[in-house]
Amino acid sequence: MNAGKLIEFPEPNRLGDCPVCGRNNGYLNVFKTHWYICRKHRLKWYAGYDLFPTWRQETRKDWERNLNILSQYTEVLARYRTRPSQDEGKTSSRRRRP
Ligand SMILES: [Zn+2]
Repeated sequence: MNAGKLIEFPEPNRLGDCPVCGRNNGYLNVFKTHWYICRKHRLKWYAGYDLFPTWRQETRKDWERNLNILSQYTEVLARYRTRPSQDEGKTSSRRRRP
């Protein structure tokens, strides 16, 4: 199983959670963009751009692998327990394909 480079975010709930189960499994970077995922429900949601410096430690190979994983997930709108700090409506269904 290809787990990719999943980064666990210590603060759930800040950038949205799975709309089905209310949790997340951390995020994957694709260059500077961060995607949260729920493995159980195979859902992903866009978290933001260049919010975490973690992408700097990754390579193009990591991002390609992450993209591959993300392509198997369905894009959804995250559920927020608190008000999102980012402006809403930014969760466009922009698809990034290699
Ligand atoms: Zn879920």
